[in-house]
Amino acid sequence: MNIAQVIVDVPAKQVNQTFDYIIPQHFQGVLSEGMRVIVPFGPRKIMGFVIGKTDQSNFTRLKEIEEILDLTPVLTKELIQLGKWVSNQTLSFYITAYQAMLPQALKATYKKELVRSTEEQISKELEFLFANKKRIPYERLVNSPITYTVVQKAIQNGEIYVDYLVKSKGAKKAITMVKPGKEEHQLMEGFHNLSKTATKQRAILQYFINHPSEIDQASLLRKFKTSHNTIKSLTDKQLLHVYKKEVYRNPYNDDNFKSTEPLSLTKQQQQAIKPIKEFIHNQEQGVFVLHGVTGSGKTEIYLQAIQDVLQKGQEAIVLVPEISLTPQMVKRFKGRFGSNVAVFHSALSVGEKYDEWRKIFRKEVQVVVGARSAVFAPFENLGIIIIDEEHETSYKQEDQPRYHARDVAIERSNYHKCPVVLGSATPTLETYARAQKGVYDLAVLDKRTNNKPMPSVEIIDMRKELHAGNRTMFSRTLKNKMETAMDKNEQIVLLLNRRGFSTFVMCRDCGHVNECPHCDIALTYHKSSNQLKCHYCSYEERMPLTCPSCESELIRYFGTGTERVEESLTKLIPHARIIRMDVDTTRRKGSHERLLGKFSNQEADILLGTQMIAKGLDFENVTLVGVLAADSMLHLPDFRSSEKTFQLLTQVSGRAGRHELPGEVIIQTYTPDHYTVQLASQYDYKRFFNMEMKIRRQFQYPPYVFLTLITVSHPVHAVAIKVTQQIVQFLSQIIERNTTLLGPTPSPIMRLKNRYRYQCMIKYKREPNLKEKLERVVRPFEDQILKEDLQIIIDTNPYQFM
Ligand code: ADP
Ligand code: ZN
Ligand code: ZN
Repeated sequence: MNIAQVIVDVPAKQVNQTFDYIIPQHFQGVLSEGMRVIVPFGPRKIMGFVIGKTDQSNFTRLKEIEEILDLTPVLTKELIQLGKWVSNQTLSFYITAYQAMLPQALKATYKKELVRSTEEQISKELEFLFANKKRIPYERLVNSPITYTVVQKAIQNGEIYVDYLVKSKGAKKAITMVKPGKEEHQLMEGFHNLSKTATKQRAILQYFINHPSEIDQASLLRKFKTSHNTIKSLTDKQLLHVYKKEVYRNPYNDDNFKSTEPLSLTKQQQQAIKPIKEFIHNQEQGVFVLHGVTGSGKTEIYLQAIQDVLQKGQEAIVLVPEISLTPQMVKRFKGRFGSNVAVFHSALSVGEKYDEWRKIFRKEVQVVVGARSAVFAPFENLGIIIIDEEHETSYKQEDQPRYHARDVAIERSNYHKCPVVLGSATPTLETYARAQKGVYDLAVLDKRTNNKPMPSVEIIDMRKELHAGNRTMFSRTLKNKMETAMDKNEQIVLLLNRRGFSTFVMCRDCGHVNECPHCDIALTYHKSSNQLKCHYCSYEERMPLTCPSCESELIRYFGTGTERVEESLTKLIPHARIIRMDVDTTRRKGSHERLLGKFSNQEADILLGTQMIAKGLDFENVTLVGVLAADSMLHLPDFRSSEKTFQLLTQVSGRAGRHELPGEVIIQTYTPDHYTVQLASQYDYKRFFNMEMKIRRQFQYPPYVFLTLITVSHPVHAVAIKVTQQIVQFLSQIIERNTTLLGPTPSPIMRLKNRYRYQCMIKYKREPNLKEKLERVVRPFEDQILKEDLQIIIDTNPYQFM
């Protein structure tokens, strides 16, 4: 096997295949699948992944592999396969799929070093190479006569390892440590020889006589309020020894987590966990939908299932939405499994992420808790994959490769023969429909563990407020309840449902919203042309001057932000202390936690925020939750808008009354009779599911059909239109008879970053070879894509239609 099959780092259609390279003699026996290499490619030298080895090639005159970047594979055999699968599923390049699986530190060719990790004897050649140094530049190895086999063996024995230096900062963090340099009696002797006036030196030496172990220099200096000089005097006398020690950058200090014991499960929890445990023990693949109201103890089920997995010596992945990867959440996993947990969070630095990844890679942890990309954690013996809040759209990546973490999780579970658990209070229609058909198993937790009822919900009709002369965004009821809560020193969460505000048009008198006559979807307001458009089909109409339903002139599109709400709230209740949380106030790293910390310490009465405050937060003192515009999302140009509204209302209601104090929820809306608002206020998921499924069937949306969205963009308007038209024309000739093709139509945001965007959509039940068909359709444009800045994005499972 002296030929390597390499995927090169050039994301382009023309090179989306493996290239064969000869493995030179000195790399044979060292090079294996999953390693990164440097290969000559045209005039350049570029990075590539070795994904296979072979004896024969269909090509002659092969070039040689130039250099190997890894001495241990960064992709496991499973991940190599998975990358191909992801790339096929999402119609993305192999290289893009592989890059998505690895931490950023490994994506570029960062500077490398060899590090010695043992003080014990290592092979003579290596001793010579290191020449008493702890770390040496990798190039020194490359330029030495030492064979890679020797190095590889040393790595396998844990004697040395390869480290990547990220940017200018070291990929790894080292701290300065101090420990006694001599035996206790020698320290005592040294102590007596110290001058009586050297009080600090004496104190420090006395300390080490009592505590003969290492301590980091910074704490030592702090403890004795002294400077480096004191320590230097002692090290000069060889009484102390100062050295560097490498530490993982640990964004979460494990000592801060109080360890917790498994709780004894309620009846419902026991029933829910039983089949999951059976699948774990039988090493069986299966998908479980854990449908549990907020506070019903889903997390405790995750924890106890993972415990079984760990006892079997296996590993666990837990996915949580980015937004709810809060310190509270991390605490629950670290509290149960301590330092056996790695955490992947987008707020971590490149180096921190690399450290967390390496813990998994080196099998130092068995559990990872993280956002979407953690689904690629390089575990080799997975026993369970858990997806909390499975309905969250952040599990879909909106960039190549456009994968959905749920699909990847299920694919991995097939390989590892392990269960997948999808937990939610409001499962997606797709997931719940599969559970009803028996494709997935369903477990229901319909009671809170504290046996408290769900908070009562009151719907406020904002049209009536307007008619009563109240033009503020706050109903009289909400204002009164907020004041009452504040009088009792209780706290309030206010959700401003902002997304999509400025895009739909609504009558403030009667709540009428203009919808497309063919699609049952709110029309989008296009300011430039003063028109309302449906972006699913091509329907359009002029922006009306009066309400088509009641002829009122108070018909307008909406626009408001949290800042303005805060202002008017301050006017309304001047003594209220408010914390505002939105993208603007949480941009800085750590500000999210800081604001929540302040609220939790009761330094404010009201937490006002967007969607980001709806998830996973748990505050004892919150008794009132207000939703300011429950329907704003209902009319987004998205067939999932009702589903998303239901999810959000349910989530936010779950924030109240989680502990001793009973909770109350106020939902302000212009469409109080909408089934989504009604059923969310009754916590009636089942009926909502049934209603919504009827609508999906009537208008042919998922889960009844599959969708593929093609978005074409180009700086020149006419080109974008023309290409989309050609694509539609070509597609219409090759798709199945009962497949629907919609468009071309302008994207809801038609011009973005100076590009014009058009789209078309395919709705199908069965469309064999769709991927090949799509590739065929795009092929004629490849030249234009390469040379003329044309972009064609194909999303085979779209969640965003903007
Ligand atoms: P969910 O994840 O479904 O919202 P949680 O797991 O957060 O629910 O549980 C809600 C609360 O109930 C938590 O404070 C948790 O510690 C507690 N809890 C969970 N299971 C039990 C149990 N079996 N006995 C007592 N308390 C429990
Ligand atoms: Zn339409
Ligand atoms: Zn009206």
